[in-house]
Amino acid sequence: MPFVVYEEKMDHESAKEFALRVLKRNIMRLDMLPGEAISEKEIAKELDLSRTPVREALLELSREHLVDIYPQKSTKVSLMDARIVEQGRFVRATVEVAILEQACRQMDSEYFEELEENLERQARCIEENDLLKFFTFDNEFHQILFNAASLDTVYEVLSIYVPHFSRERMLRLQMFNATELYHDHKTILNALREKDCRNAQLTMRRHIDRVVCDQNILKEAFPAYFTQV
Ligand SMILES: [Zn+2]
Repeated sequence: MPFVVYEEKMDHESAKEFALRVLKRNIMRLDMLPGEAISEKEIAKELDLSRTPVREALLELSREHLVDIYPQKSTKVSLMDARIVEQGRFVRATVEVAILEQACRQMDSEYFEELEENLERQARCIEENDLLKFFTFDNEFHQILFNAASLDTVYEVLSIYVPHFSRERMLRLQMFNATELYHDHKTILNALREKDCRNAQLTMRRHIDRVVCDQNILKEAFPAYFTQV
């Protein structure tokens, strides 16, 4: 079971929060692969925690459909579920396209600067081939748009789908590159600058749809990681 302890426990977090953070990161980054068995005992040992907070973290992950618990039998990393990814795409495409109207109307220079800086960081990640960091800035780009539309808590609600998209994106990046995502972001920013809401919305829809367009290719390449529907 490849399990990586990326960071140490932070002072303000509880043992359960620490276990949850590290486990989630391992699942999202595909260190722990879809379908892989999880040993509560081993994780507790690696994190230097008792088993209770690890068990609580696993329970929470099962509510997020990232872990499957078979009582008295085993605990496994959930397979990638096309239905969840599709529902996440639906919600994101609907909401993120809608918020652009508001962003287009009210976005001020402060947010344009933030987006511009974010895009520079994305470009640097591509140059340095640091795709994991690219993900972080990609998510941040979308979050700034919610902030610009004064809808920051809506972003938090949608973030439940982020881990599911992330696993798909991790897999996708082994076959594709991030440049097209970067160009989508750039087109969206330029359209907002020109107050061309329609173009911003069309590009956003295409951008979010990419995850599903490529799903069939991924399923074919990595059939063992997906639920069979
Ligand atoms: Zn994006």
